[in-house]
Amino acid sequence: MEKPPALHLEEVRRSYVQGDHELAILRGATLSVWPGESVALIAPSGAGKSTLLHMAGLLEHPDGGEVYISGKPTAKLPDGARTAIRRHEIGFVYQFHHLLPEFTASENVALPQMIAGLDRREATKRANELLRFLGLAERLEHRPSELSGGEQQRVAIARAVANAPRLLLADEPTGNLDPKTADHVFETLSKLVSATKLAAVIATHNLDLAKRMTRRVTLRDGKVVELE
Ligand code: ADP
Repeated sequence: MEKPPALHLEEVRRSYVQGDHELAILRGATLSVWPGESVALIAPSGAGKSTLLHMAGLLEHPDGGEVYISGKPTAKLPDGARTAIRRHEIGFVYQFHHLLPEFTASENVALPQMIAGLDRREATKRANELLRFLGLAERLEHRPSELSGGEQQRVAIARAVANAPRLLLADEPTGNLDPKTADHVFETLSKLVSATKLAAVIATHNLDLAKRMTRRVTLRDGKVVELE
């Protein structure tokens, strides 16, 4: 049987109350992302990109509709079960890396695996393999402050995929980087997605980089629309 999409948003709705009125941000957003696919989410500021990523990452509840992770509906699950799915199946990369400053690159990537129950040796081995794959073989023992912006972001990507999630969600992962570095980080992300059959949704303003993704989508009136 064919595998389900890693992520399927079905008619997701989400509003925020601001002052005395309600802002409907997602108004029936539908999107499927399959293993090995990278989808660029391109839309102006305020269109709801982060909101969509929060729904997909089970960080917030939709007001309506359903979020399927690897075919499993999640909207009605208790918080504990949602947290478990988030921990095991979803990786996050943000605009700012949020690495732990007092730990080395290797430790930053090993920690989430140790929290998930792997022993230190195994976790460190996998962390170092990942960092090497992302071109950081010479930086394993560096602390974040000793790394460039692009290197920090590649460590953050390694950390996000350390527990072998099926879905990677990235919110402006290169928004903070110069064009050349952004290019390199994107290249690394793409390589990782195709090598590991991850599914990725990447919010970005950078159209050049978005062209390298498998698909491009935008948000229009709170719905997902495919772009060319
Ligand atoms: P984008 O990521 O595309 O810039 P967001 O998803 O962050 O857009 O936000 C979409 C809109 O929803 C914005 O107008 C924002 O002010 C509003 N919004 C987002 N989160 C909240 C919240 N927690 N409470 C109230 N309004 C919010």
